[in-house]
Amino acid sequence: MNIQMVDVKSQYQKIKTEVDAGIQEVINSCAFINGPAVKKFKASLEAYLGAEVVIPCANGTDALQIAMMALGLKPGDEVIVPAFTYVATAEVIALLGLTPVMVDVDPDSFNITTEIVAAALTPKTKCVVPVNLYGQNAELEGIMELADEQGFYVIEDNAQAIGSDYIFKDGTRKKSGTIAHIGSTSFYPSKNLGAYGDGGALYTNDPELGEKMRMVANHGQAKKYVHDVIGCNSRLDSIQAAILEVKLKHLDEYCSARQEVADRYDLALINVDQLQIPKRMNYSTHVFHQYTLKVKDGRRDELKSYLAENGIPSMIYYPIPLYKQRAFKPFTNITNLPITEQLCKEVISLPIHTEMSVEECTYVCEVVTNFFAT
Ligand SMILES: *Cc1c(COP(=O)(O)O)cnc(C)c1O
Repeated sequence: MNIQMVDVKSQYQKIKTEVDAGIQEVINSCAFINGPAVKKFKASLEAYLGAEVVIPCANGTDALQIAMMALGLKPGDEVIVPAFTYVATAEVIALLGLTPVMVDVDPDSFNITTEIVAAALTPKTKCVVPVNLYGQNAELEGIMELADEQGFYVIEDNAQAIGSDYIFKDGTRKKSGTIAHIGSTSFYPSKNLGAYGDGGALYTNDPELGEKMRMVANHGQAKKYVHDVIGCNSRLDSIQAAILEVKLKHLDEYCSARQEVADRYDLALINVDQLQIPKRMNYSTHVFHQYTLKVKDGRRDELKSYLAENGIPSMIYYPIPLYKQRAFKPFTNITNLPITEQLCKEVISLPIHTEMSVEECTYVCEVVTNFFAT
């Protein structure tokens, strides 16, 4: 068995004809930048998400940066961000001269909550960036209520949760990334909707904000050679858009395939005392960008080595709290957030992807169970 963390190749084999035709069409047209393929994918993603405006861009990190630039945030403004996330979320805050206020996360959802945000608010808070980590939404309904009350913006970092649903208290649902003022996503190849190169997008239901973001992503340009604000150059290329157009049609089926793997893992591992399986929150569906366990007896690293010896890859997302990274030393005086510290020592992500077989899944569970039986 050749178990992989992500299997982009086998997935490609199944959609090869469609993808190859899409790529060839772009090359035939030579409309490499902002061609019809980009416009078509933008419209398809708007329809899928039920979002008023989608702005495609070069990658998920740019998407976050463009969002913060379009909101007109100024040096000294505080932006609340979880300390337990990928570096990109906090990096762009520092890059723009804003002040990252790193907060702890909830140990069950791995995400920030309304309570955590409320406790970190100051008169300088201008923005909050919840991350929908591992494929599950943060508790956005409460965070948005607080935002309305206190007057700050919310940007959902939805790089890991595209396709999941937010479930409101009244039972209504919206696609992840469309609940806050702005949602940002990444089409990095291993993400749930992955391109065959870099890509990203922003979404909003506010047309004015959409127009600002479109301008920022295109040199602050209102019309050609007229520049109203300082922007940047961040484009999704047409070939990637053509690939994403094909893959978007399969996104729901890809989400279901991941959920099936997660259900199988849950069932096999729920009774292992030393493990905590991922909690499914009642306000979100889970699209399992990662299947992340907590190892409770301090043997996480030992488990990782044992898996490797048995041919099973695994990953630690994330091993070091952001405030302990040297790059962030000048930007924060936080030195210890207890849940973040604990999670960095306890989490381990098992292989999960759309092409994973029942046999592969069973084998991973056997090896994990064996490890704790010895
Ligand atoms: C992948 C990721 C990003 C960055 O996306 P890129 O396309 O690699 O720039 C940002 N935030 C989170 C949470 C991510 O997982």
